[in-house]
Amino acid sequence: MATQAPDWIAESASAEKPAARPMLIRRAAVLGAGTMGSRIAAHLANTGIPVLLLDIVPAGEALARNKLASGAIESLLKAKPAAFFEPSLARLVTPGNFDDDLPKLARCDWIIEAVTEDLAVKRSLLTRVLPHIGLNAILTTNTSGLPIAKIAASLGDAFTASLRKRWFGTHFFNPPRYMRLLEVIPTADTDPAVLAAFSAFADRILGKQVVQAHDTPNFIANRIGVANMFSALTLMREQGLTIEEVDALTGTALGWPRTGTFRLADMVGIDILAHVASNFSEGVAPGSPIELIQEMVKRRWLGDKTGQGFYRKSRDANGQEQRFALDLATLEYRPLAKAKLPALEMAKNSASLPERLRMLLANDPAKDKSAAYLWPLLANLWNYAADRIGEVADDVPSIDKAIRAGFNWELGPFAMWDAAGVASTVARIKALGLPVSPHVESLLAAGHQSWYSADGEFCYSPLTGQMEPVPPIPGHACIAAYRAPSAGRAGVVRKNPGASLVDLGDGIGCLQLHSVKSAIGGDVVSLLTSALASGGEAVRNFQAFVISSDADNFSVGANLMQLLLGLQEGDWDEINLAIRGFQQMTAAIKFCPRPVVVAPAGLCLGGGTEICLHAAQRQLHAETYIGLVEAGVGLIPGGGGTKEMALRAHDLAAAFAPPEPKDPPAKFAHSGEYATALKRALETIAMAKVSTSAAEARTLGLLSPADRVTLNRERLLLDAKIQALALAEIGYVTPVERTQIPVAGLAALAMLETGIYLMGEAGFASAHDQKVAAKAAHVLCGGRVTAGSLVSEQYLLDLEREAFLSLCGERKTQERIAHTLKTGKPLRN
Ligand code: NAD
Repeated sequence: MATQAPDWIAESASAEKPAARPMLIRRAAVLGAGTMGSRIAAHLANTGIPVLLLDIVPAGEALARNKLASGAIESLLKAKPAAFFEPSLARLVTPGNFDDDLPKLARCDWIIEAVTEDLAVKRSLLTRVLPHIGLNAILTTNTSGLPIAKIAASLGDAFTASLRKRWFGTHFFNPPRYMRLLEVIPTADTDPAVLAAFSAFADRILGKQVVQAHDTPNFIANRIGVANMFSALTLMREQGLTIEEVDALTGTALGWPRTGTFRLADMVGIDILAHVASNFSEGVAPGSPIELIQEMVKRRWLGDKTGQGFYRKSRDANGQEQRFALDLATLEYRPLAKAKLPALEMAKNSASLPERLRMLLANDPAKDKSAAYLWPLLANLWNYAADRIGEVADDVPSIDKAIRAGFNWELGPFAMWDAAGVASTVARIKALGLPVSPHVESLLAAGHQSWYSADGEFCYSPLTGQMEPVPPIPGHACIAAYRAPSAGRAGVVRKNPGASLVDLGDGIGCLQLHSVKSAIGGDVVSLLTSALASGGEAVRNFQAFVISSDADNFSVGANLMQLLLGLQEGDWDEINLAIRGFQQMTAAIKFCPRPVVVAPAGLCLGGGTEICLHAAQRQLHAETYIGLVEAGVGLIPGGGGTKEMALRAHDLAAAFAPPEPKDPPAKFAHSGEYATALKRALETIAMAKVSTSAAEARTLGLLSPADRVTLNRERLLLDAKIQALALAEIGYVTPVERTQIPVAGLAALAMLETGIYLMGEAGFASAHDQKVAAKAAHVLCGGRVTAGSLVSEQYLLDLEREAFLSLCGERKTQERIAHTLKTGKPLRN
């Protein structure tokens, strides 16, 4: 047990502001290995923190006393979506039990209670745990909505004044790896410095959007988000809509997840909703949806976890999947019927949420089903949220942030209200005879037209009656914020529809990708190539570059539509030029006289991966799904990606078995290390492998040891900027084209070709898969040349382009491209 007071306690006494230095968490313990506890443990392991995972000793288990926690770790390894960034991280989670292992808590910096949502259960466990908490450790409870102060009430003398300062709520959303929101809920006794240090840790290390909530039932996101789900359900019953119609109306059209209300409810679990509902003290009157929810819980219609909820899936006698939806009037399932809402279909054509909202709300509720539903739904949401200011959180931005991160909404309720127009909607809400919150009345009476100022830097507070500054979080930024010029920054330096060069300040230029659907077309290629060209103006004006995007996905790859059109017109010269152009772009990235750092997040596929492979360094968001997927459409990476994988295979082998200077290149070219590295590179390309996380990308050979991972998406841009600055300032050496690469040639090609043949024989690869793989193997080995032949990067690029073009001419490749464009899925032909 530590004896010295930690530095943030000392600082809290002396400093004016709470410390923002991330708290040091070296080891943690999670109490309760259920759904949340086990997944929180996995996420801590994802960040490299060793965790003790404890649960009860099952009755009658004399020997397998850790059975629950051990079983939970096994389940974590099978969880979908994956709980661990990569399976080997499970080694950081140690199973244990409450009877034997509580003394081990003394060595933990953070103890997280995550047992059943029941006051008595939580209190009784905490009473046992308190004597074992270290002097400096923090103790938090993960609850969906039980008051934190109430959980800790009557815990006795062991709950000392010192411990009370280190006790608060930490509400993770499920699944904790993927859901960005973390609500922290202090009590009156919590030390603000402890909370600030913990929040900084959760932001930076766990990658969470941290929002401070008041200790009121269901906190912020569930309070407003679940109230909105219930309001959607109640209105649906009043207006006689189907659940398919409500899901269509409450999905992407409003900037909400495509699951809509009821698919989301099934995913969350109807029992979880029932728990949240039971915490609502008001609004749970007879006839409200709580009765329906309770009935569904009684029938075990809990959603995905029991196979049925608002929806049900089953298979008919022929094995075909059938989908059903619940008819709320009869409580019977009926076949799914697609919603037909013309106004909604029209609105979907407009790309921006504000435009869609205004279109949907412009219709007359007396004539249009969509408007009739959305007006009261949004009026309830906006006014309910406005009434909660000061109650669930102090300020509007915290509420917006919590809903955005907790429910994956594009805009929080207040930003959404601004987008629809506050004054005009309030007038309409009144005309419809619906109530209006005094807080929005106060906003309008103060002469403001919107909750936020146009630049987003101020937000109205009904508590002070003033526009208050929205405090920026140091380290959080998006590229959009840099597009306008400001003191010392040039804003957008050049742009086209697919990409822009934006001044990030401090001599760093950002190449922002922003094409439709994140595909790389001629516009992206031309802007990146010209901006990074060694003789260009940009390389004189900037000292380093970051390539990134504000979109959810960095890139889905090259624009296949452009390629298919060229193929259909038989315009081979044009296609050849386009591939050359792509190779010139990646060469410009690699040989740029200034360091280039690529910062991808979300999907980073095909051409997006090729951009990454050529950069001086990569700064990836933890949730980056990266891979050379060209084989899926019958191609090989043609923008320098296959060449880079060949170089990486060479370098990996050379690092493991460095060739003696006096040895002939043929000796190294015949080495087992080289053959193994090439085999691995071929698997990555031919099987179109995509990593399920940035951590897994390392195992695919797509990263180098210097590459870094950012857990918090909001920090990705500035973390990449720091890396770019560091590379520039420590003296960046521009790579020169390699001309003496000893390729494996025939020594490895025969082995790789045998492997490809055997994959075909075993039924794992179609004839076309084998053809594509053979082309990749050909390039990786440098062609049918003598082992140890010395070649240049350009030679490998020429082989790569040749192979790409020949595959383009294959009918099956063209079928694959057309199929993927139509369905978004690969075709195995
Ligand atoms: P769960 O039922 O999956 O797991 C609860 C765990 O508590 C189990 O491992 C169980 O063995 C243990 N437990 C049961 N009785 C106990 C006792 N008497 N003493 C000690 N341990 C006992 O629950 P969960 O979904 O993981 O929820 C845990 C907490 O997290 C709850 O407070 C819940 O409200 C909150 N939460 C859940 C979700 C969610 O979506 N599941 C989301 C956010 C917060």
